[in-house]
Amino acid sequence: MRAIKLLLITFVLAFAFASEVKLKRVERGLYMVRGVDGLPSLENRGFMSNAYAVLTREGWVVIDALTTPELSGEFVRELWKVKRAPIRYAIITHYHPDHWYGVKTYKDLGATVVAHKKLMEFYQSGDAQMALEAGKQRFGEVYKDVVLVPPDLTVEDKHTLRVGDRSFEITALPPAHTNSDLIVYMPKEKVAFVGDLVVYNRIPFMGDRNASSKGLLEVLKLLKTIDIRVVLGGHNDPMDKKAIDFTMAYVQYLRENIKRLKEQGKSLDEIKEALKDNSYSKYVMYHAFHNANLFKVDTELDLEE
Ligand SMILES: [Zn+2]
Repeated sequence: MRAIKLLLITFVLAFAFASEVKLKRVERGLYMVRGVDGLPSLENRGFMSNAYAVLTREGWVVIDALTTPELSGEFVRELWKVKRAPIRYAIITHYHPDHWYGVKTYKDLGATVVAHKKLMEFYQSGDAQMALEAGKQRFGEVYKDVVLVPPDLTVEDKHTLRVGDRSFEITALPPAHTNSDLIVYMPKEKVAFVGDLVVYNRIPFMGDRNASSKGLLEVLKLLKTIDIRVVLGGHNDPMDKKAIDFTMAYVQYLRENIKRLKEQGKSLDEIKEALKDNSYSKYVMYHAFHNANLFKVDTELDLEE
Protein backbone atom coordinates (compact mmCIF):
# COMPACT_ATOMS: atom_id res chain seq x y z
CA MET A 1 0.00 0.00 0.00
CA ARG A 2 2.76 2.37 1.00
CA ALA A 3 4.70 1.49 -2.12
CA ILE A 4 1.69 2.30 -4.28
CA LYS A 5 1.23 5.61 -2.49
CA LEU A 6 4.88 6.47 -3.06
CA LEU A 7 4.60 5.54 -6.72
CA LEU A 8 1.52 7.72 -7.06
CA ILE A 9 3.26 10.68 -5.45
CA THR A 10 6.23 10.17 -7.77
CA PHE A 11 3.93 10.25 -10.80
CA VAL A 12 2.15 13.38 -9.66
CA LEU A 13 5.46 15.11 -8.96
CA ALA A 14 6.86 13.98 -12.31
CA PHE A 15 3.90 15.60 -14.07
CA ALA A 16 4.17 18.75 -12.00
CA PHE A 17 7.88 19.12 -12.78
CA ALA A 18 7.43 18.16 -16.43
CA SER A 19 5.41 21.32 -17.01
CA GLU A 20 7.47 23.57 -14.77
CA VAL A 21 9.05 26.45 -16.67
CA LYS A 22 12.55 26.24 -15.29
CA LEU A 23 15.32 28.47 -16.58
CA LYS A 24 18.60 26.97 -17.75
CA ARG A 25 21.75 28.93 -18.49
CA VAL A 26 23.19 27.93 -21.87
CA GLU A 27 26.21 30.23 -21.62
CA ARG A 28 27.02 33.77 -20.49
CA GLY A 29 23.96 35.96 -21.00
CA LEU A 30 22.04 33.22 -22.84
CA TYR A 31 19.17 31.33 -21.22
CA MET A 32 16.52 28.82 -22.23
CA VAL A 33 13.53 26.87 -21.04
CA ARG A 34 13.16 23.34 -22.37
CA GLY A 35 9.67 22.02 -23.11
CA VAL A 36 8.76 18.35 -22.79
CA ASP A 37 8.69 16.04 -25.82
CA GLY A 38 5.07 15.56 -26.84
CA LEU A 39 1.91 17.15 -28.19
CA PRO A 40 0.03 19.80 -26.16
CA SER A 41 -2.02 18.39 -23.29
CA LEU A 42 -3.59 19.48 -20.02
CA GLU A 43 -0.75 17.74 -18.16
CA ASN A 44 2.02 19.61 -19.96
CA ARG A 45 -0.05 22.85 -20.33
CA GLY A 46 1.30 23.16 -23.87
CA PHE A 47 4.84 23.42 -22.55
CA MET A 48 6.35 21.26 -25.31
CA SER A 49 8.68 23.73 -26.98
CA ASN A 50 11.67 25.87 -26.05
CA ALA A 51 12.12 29.59 -25.64
CA TYR A 52 15.40 31.48 -25.41
CA ALA A 53 16.56 34.82 -24.05
CA VAL A 54 19.71 36.85 -24.59
CA LEU A 55 20.68 39.53 -22.09
CA THR A 56 22.03 42.68 -23.71
CA ARG A 57 23.07 46.01 -22.18
CA GLU A 58 19.69 47.42 -23.22
CA GLY A 59 17.53 44.56 -21.97
CA TRP A 60 16.37 41.12 -23.05
CA VAL A 61 15.90 39.78 -26.56
CA VAL A 62 13.67 36.70 -26.49
CA ILE A 63 13.35 34.08 -29.18
CA ASP A 64 9.96 32.35 -29.35
CA ALA A 65 6.94 32.73 -27.12
CA LEU A 66 5.88 29.23 -25.95
CA THR A 67 2.26 28.07 -26.34
CA THR A 68 0.35 30.38 -23.98
CA PRO A 69 0.66 33.79 -22.29
CA GLU A 70 0.71 31.93 -18.97
CA LEU A 71 3.86 30.00 -19.96
CA SER A 72 5.62 33.02 -21.45
CA GLY A 73 4.69 34.95 -18.28
CA GLU A 74 6.43 32.31 -16.19
CA PHE A 75 9.42 32.50 -18.53
CA VAL A 76 9.68 36.27 -18.05
CA ARG A 77 9.42 35.91 -14.27
CA GLU A 78 12.34 33.48 -14.41
CA LEU A 79 14.34 35.92 -16.57
CA TRP A 80 13.66 38.73 -14.12
CA LYS A 81 15.19 36.66 -11.34
CA VAL A 82 18.41 36.93 -13.38
CA LYS A 83 17.94 40.59 -14.25
CA ARG A 84 14.90 42.83 -14.12
CA ALA A 85 15.40 44.48 -17.51
CA PRO A 86 12.89 45.30 -20.26
CA ILE A 87 11.99 42.80 -22.98
CA ARG A 88 13.19 44.76 -25.99
CA TYR A 89 12.48 42.37 -28.85
CA ALA A 90 10.59 39.11 -29.28
CA ILE A 91 11.58 37.17 -32.40
CA ILE A 92 9.16 34.45 -33.50
CA THR A 93 10.83 31.66 -35.50
CA HIS A 94 7.59 30.56 -37.26
CA TYR A 95 3.81 30.59 -36.94
CA HIS A 96 3.26 27.29 -35.10
CA PRO A 97 1.26 27.63 -31.84
CA ASP A 98 4.08 26.45 -29.57
CA HIS A 99 6.33 29.27 -30.85
CA TRP A 100 3.88 32.12 -31.38
CA TYR A 101 0.78 31.81 -29.18
CA GLY A 102 2.39 33.09 -25.97
CA VAL A 103 3.60 36.37 -27.51
CA LYS A 104 0.97 38.61 -25.83
CA THR A 105 3.03 38.66 -22.62
CA TYR A 106 6.02 40.19 -24.41
CA LYS A 107 3.85 42.64 -26.32
CA ASP A 108 2.14 43.83 -23.11
CA LEU A 109 5.60 44.45 -21.64
CA GLY A 110 6.51 46.71 -24.56
CA ALA A 111 8.55 44.36 -26.73
CA THR A 112 8.83 44.85 -30.48
CA VAL A 113 7.58 41.61 -32.01
CA VAL A 114 9.57 40.42 -35.04
CA ALA A 115 8.44 37.70 -37.47
CA HIS A 116 8.49 36.56 -41.08
CA LYS A 117 6.32 38.53 -43.50
CA LYS A 118 4.34 35.35 -44.16
CA LEU A 119 3.34 35.14 -40.49
CA MET A 120 1.81 38.60 -40.87
CA GLU A 121 -0.02 37.44 -44.01
CA PHE A 122 -1.28 34.37 -42.12
CA TYR A 123 -2.57 36.67 -39.38
CA GLN A 124 -4.17 39.17 -41.77
CA SER A 125 -5.86 36.52 -43.90
CA GLY A 126 -7.93 35.32 -40.93
CA ASP A 127 -6.56 31.79 -41.35
CA ALA A 128 -4.52 32.12 -38.15
CA GLN A 129 -7.70 32.87 -36.18
CA MET A 130 -9.40 29.87 -37.76
CA ALA A 131 -6.43 27.68 -36.84
CA LEU A 132 -6.65 28.95 -33.25
CA GLU A 133 -10.39 28.11 -33.08
CA ALA A 134 -9.62 24.62 -34.42
CA GLY A 135 -6.85 24.27 -31.83
CA LYS A 136 -9.26 25.26 -29.06
CA GLN A 137 -11.60 22.49 -30.22
CA ARG A 138 -8.84 19.92 -30.34
CA PHE A 139 -6.77 20.80 -27.27
CA GLY A 140 -9.51 22.33 -25.14
CA GLU A 141 -8.41 24.32 -22.13
CA VAL A 142 -4.76 24.60 -23.16
CA TYR A 143 -5.35 27.52 -25.57
CA LYS A 144 -8.12 29.25 -23.60
CA ASP A 145 -6.14 32.46 -22.86
CA VAL A 146 -4.40 32.70 -26.22
CA VAL A 147 -4.87 35.95 -28.12
CA LEU A 148 -3.20 36.32 -31.50
CA VAL A 149 -0.74 39.20 -31.71
CA PRO A 150 0.71 40.27 -35.08
CA PRO A 151 4.36 41.28 -35.50
CA ASP A 152 5.42 44.94 -35.29
CA LEU A 153 8.33 44.32 -37.61
CA THR A 154 8.27 41.83 -40.47
CA VAL A 155 11.27 40.36 -42.26
CA GLU A 156 11.08 39.47 -45.92
CA ASP A 157 14.74 38.90 -46.67
CA LYS A 158 17.36 39.87 -44.09
CA HIS A 159 17.36 42.20 -41.14
CA THR A 160 19.99 42.87 -38.48
CA LEU A 161 19.01 43.98 -35.00
CA ARG A 162 21.70 45.64 -32.91
CA VAL A 163 20.68 45.69 -29.28
CA GLY A 164 23.24 46.94 -26.79
CA ASP A 165 26.41 44.93 -27.31
CA ARG A 166 24.71 42.12 -29.25
CA SER A 167 23.89 41.61 -32.88
CA PHE A 168 21.12 39.41 -34.30
CA GLU A 169 21.15 38.60 -38.02
CA ILE A 170 17.66 37.52 -39.00
CA THR A 171 17.09 35.68 -42.27
CA ALA A 172 13.60 35.01 -43.62
CA LEU A 173 13.55 31.71 -45.48
CA PRO A 174 11.55 30.27 -48.36
CA PRO A 175 9.11 27.45 -47.39
CA ALA A 176 10.81 24.68 -45.37
CA HIS A 177 9.31 23.63 -41.98
CA THR A 178 6.56 26.21 -42.69
CA ASN A 179 6.47 29.19 -45.04
CA SER A 180 7.25 31.55 -42.14
CA ASP A 181 10.62 30.25 -40.89
CA LEU A 182 13.31 32.61 -39.64
CA ILE A 183 16.83 31.85 -38.53
CA VAL A 184 18.53 34.15 -36.06
CA TYR A 185 22.32 34.18 -36.03
CA MET A 186 24.61 35.89 -33.55
CA PRO A 187 27.88 36.22 -35.49
CA LYS A 188 30.20 37.11 -32.60
CA GLU A 189 28.94 34.25 -30.44
CA LYS A 190 28.41 31.86 -33.40
CA VAL A 191 25.03 30.90 -31.99
CA ALA A 192 22.08 30.13 -34.29
CA PHE A 193 18.41 29.94 -33.33
CA VAL A 194 16.81 27.65 -35.87
CA GLY A 195 13.22 27.08 -34.72
CA ASP A 196 12.05 23.65 -35.88
CA LEU A 197 14.36 23.43 -38.90
CA VAL A 198 16.91 21.29 -37.07
CA VAL A 199 16.22 18.41 -34.70
CA TYR A 200 18.41 15.75 -33.15
CA ASN A 201 17.35 12.21 -32.20
CA ARG A 202 13.82 13.38 -32.90
CA ILE A 203 11.60 13.28 -35.99
CA PRO A 204 11.13 16.67 -37.67
CA PHE A 205 7.56 17.72 -38.49
CA MET A 206 7.11 18.17 -42.24
CA GLY A 207 3.32 17.91 -42.35
CA ASP A 208 2.44 21.61 -42.35
CA ARG A 209 0.41 22.56 -45.41
CA ASN A 210 3.03 25.18 -46.29
CA ALA A 211 6.02 22.91 -45.62
CA SER A 212 8.49 21.90 -48.31
CA SER A 213 10.86 18.97 -47.87
CA LYS A 214 12.86 20.16 -50.87
CA GLY A 215 13.07 23.64 -49.33
CA LEU A 216 14.04 22.15 -45.97
CA LEU A 217 17.00 20.36 -47.59
CA GLU A 218 18.11 23.64 -49.17
CA VAL A 219 17.91 25.43 -45.82
CA LEU A 220 19.86 22.67 -44.07
CA LYS A 221 22.54 22.91 -46.77
CA LEU A 222 22.71 26.67 -46.19
CA LEU A 223 23.02 26.18 -42.42
CA LYS A 224 25.97 23.84 -42.98
CA THR A 225 27.90 26.64 -44.67
CA ILE A 226 27.50 29.00 -41.70
CA ASP A 227 30.05 29.08 -38.87
CA ILE A 228 27.83 27.85 -36.03
CA ARG A 229 29.11 26.68 -32.66
CA VAL A 230 25.75 26.20 -30.90
CA VAL A 231 22.50 25.25 -32.65
CA LEU A 232 19.43 26.17 -30.59
CA GLY A 233 16.22 24.54 -31.76
CA GLY A 234 12.59 24.66 -30.82
CA HIS A 235 12.55 21.26 -29.14
CA ASN A 236 15.98 19.84 -28.30
CA ASP A 237 18.65 20.56 -25.74
CA PRO A 238 21.41 22.75 -27.24
CA MET A 239 22.87 21.00 -30.30
CA ASP A 240 25.92 21.26 -32.51
CA LYS A 241 26.19 21.00 -36.29
CA LYS A 242 25.89 17.24 -36.38
CA ALA A 243 22.17 17.76 -35.72
CA ILE A 244 21.94 19.35 -39.17
CA ASP A 245 23.25 16.11 -40.68
CA PHE A 246 20.79 14.07 -38.62
CA THR A 247 17.82 16.10 -39.86
CA MET A 248 19.11 16.09 -43.42
CA ALA A 249 19.54 12.30 -43.44
CA TYR A 250 15.89 11.76 -42.42
CA VAL A 251 14.54 14.15 -45.04
CA GLN A 252 16.74 12.58 -47.71
CA TYR A 253 15.74 9.08 -46.60
CA LEU A 254 12.06 9.96 -47.03
CA ARG A 255 12.41 11.78 -50.33
CA GLU A 256 14.67 9.20 -51.99
CA ASN A 257 12.69 6.15 -50.92
CA ILE A 258 9.27 7.58 -51.64
CA LYS A 259 10.49 8.73 -55.05
CA ARG A 260 11.92 5.28 -55.84
CA LEU A 261 8.72 3.48 -54.76
CA LYS A 262 6.49 5.90 -56.65
CA GLU A 263 8.51 5.22 -59.78
CA GLN A 264 7.67 1.54 -59.24
CA GLY A 265 3.99 2.51 -59.27
CA LYS A 266 3.40 1.93 -55.54
CA SER A 267 0.46 3.56 -53.75
CA LEU A 268 0.86 5.58 -50.56
CA ASP A 269 -0.31 2.60 -48.46
CA GLU A 270 2.18 0.31 -50.19
CA ILE A 271 4.93 2.89 -49.63
CA LYS A 272 4.03 3.09 -45.93
CA GLU A 273 4.21 -0.69 -45.69
CA ALA A 274 7.51 -0.91 -47.59
CA LEU A 275 9.14 1.70 -45.34
CA LYS A 276 7.66 0.33 -42.10
CA ASP A 277 10.91 -1.07 -40.70
CA ASN A 278 13.30 1.81 -40.51
CA SER A 279 15.96 3.03 -38.16
CA TYR A 280 13.99 6.17 -37.26
CA SER A 281 11.13 4.51 -35.36
CA LYS A 282 13.10 4.67 -32.11
CA TYR A 283 13.19 8.46 -32.07
CA VAL A 284 10.93 10.88 -30.21
CA MET A 285 7.78 12.02 -32.08
CA TYR A 286 8.04 9.24 -34.69
CA HIS A 287 4.50 8.02 -34.03
CA ALA A 288 3.09 11.54 -34.03
CA PHE A 289 4.86 12.85 -37.16
CA HIS A 290 6.22 10.14 -39.45
CA ASN A 291 3.01 9.25 -41.30
CA ALA A 292 2.11 12.89 -41.82
CA ASN A 293 5.61 13.39 -43.25
CA LEU A 294 5.20 10.44 -45.62
CA PHE A 295 1.89 11.81 -46.86
CA LYS A 296 3.29 15.33 -47.34
CA VAL A 297 6.41 14.20 -49.22
CA ASP A 298 4.30 11.91 -51.42
CA THR A 299 2.03 14.84 -52.38
CA GLU A 300 5.01 17.13 -52.90
CA LEU A 301 6.72 14.69 -55.24
CA ASP A 302 3.55 14.56 -57.37
CA LEU A 303 3.75 18.31 -57.80
CA GLU A 304 7.50 18.36 -58.48
CA GLU A 305 7.21 16.09 -61.53
ZN1 LIG B 1 7.02 24.06 -35.69
